[in-house]
Amino acid sequence: MKKVGVYYHPLFKTQGHLSLRGRLADFPGALEGVLQRPNVILYECPRATREMILKAHPGEMVAQVDLEDECRTAYESAGGVMAAMEALAKGELDRAFCFTGTGGHHAGMREFYETSCFNHVVIALRRVREITPLRRLAIIDTDALHGGGTMQLLGEDQEALHLCFCRSNYRSEDGLAVEVNVHPPGNPMTPRQYLEKLQDHLPLVEQFQPDLLVWYCGLNAHQDDYASLGLTIGDYLAACGLLVSLANTLKKPLLVVLGGGTLRQVASEVIPEIIQLLAEG
Ligand SMILES: [Zn+2]
Repeated sequence: MKKVGVYYHPLFKTQGHLSLRGRLADFPGALEGVLQRPNVILYECPRATREMILKAHPGEMVAQVDLEDECRTAYESAGGVMAAMEALAKGELDRAFCFTGTGGHHAGMREFYETSCFNHVVIALRRVREITPLRRLAIIDTDALHGGGTMQLLGEDQEALHLCFCRSNYRSEDGLAVEVNVHPPGNPMTPRQYLEKLQDHLPLVEQFQPDLLVWYCGLNAHQDDYASLGLTIGDYLAACGLLVSLANTLKKPLLVVLGGGTLRQVASEVIPEIIQLLAEG
């Protein structure tokens, strides 16, 4: 049975980024059913230390984030992703789901914008590499907006693959940064075509042979949300199924990190179902 960790912090719904906190209004209550499974455990996100944040961002930027009201949960958001990645890398968990109060993938080395404050996935990667044998990380980023901060921070990293499903096509020379346009202007994709695009690119992850997979899951591509790519709850679960099956094929741990998305109803419905799939698959 797969052991699944769920990382949550009560501050996310009261002091999270203004546009992200409302989606968590029904949590943690909405997890009641899935937490009855013996293999699903709820953890409170620990607060990352400043020293850990400095692994990805310089002190001047950290000082700016500290002054930003909307970034009050940035340390817990990064701390949860770090704790989850560490537990997965040490084999204490097989899969994990991280709630977040701030976004992460827009945050570059010196810049933070949109809802992102600190780049929690890159901070976690750098920290976890120091304390575990984990080296190679593959990030499948299906947030509807471009994960430009992550791409910048991992630019020179030869042991990280970043697949970003957004609004342009790009492939870096080393093939480790790949953008896939899932929003061709004037010719919107159907959800089915979107899922096919996702599936078509997963062999790149297999070839890369990561030690751990991250699914940066933005709920903002839902058909009712601000960056809609027409996806439904069912499409999110189909995407989750593809990634669970990839993790099984590779026999590697899977970490799901909550990205953008503002809708309470979508979060309340889809998040427990995703955790259920992590626990079953
Ligand atoms: Zn992108």
